[in-house]
Amino acid sequence: MQASSRRTAPLPPHWARLRRTVMNRDSWRCQHVRYDTGELCGEPARHCDHVVPASEGGSDAPANLRALCDWHVLRKDAADAGRARRRVTADRWQPIRNRRTHPGEVR
Ligand SMILES: [Zn+2]
Repeated sequence: MQASSRRTAPLPPHWARLRRTVMNRDSWRCQHVRYDTGELCGEPARHCDHVVPASEGGSDAPANLRALCDWHVLRKDAADAGRARRRVTADRWQPIRNRRTHPGEVR
């Protein structure tokens, strides 16, 4: 049983294997791209994220999956939930100074 309260679409039966494949591909490092510099976050990642959420029609193909760290999976989930509610993406484009600082973004 792989149910998650956050998902509206069921995970595929081979999810565990698929997740491992994607996480290995991404070297278990967060693939979130910083909006300001275009660099990868690179923090140790343990979440396998749908780039386009399954609830919005995103596929379970590796091309639509990526590794995310705890920080960014929380941000992503909040953004997905907000978009699902309001169907706007404005909050993705907040000025950098309004965002909390990610440990991996202090360099
Ligand atoms: Zn990250």
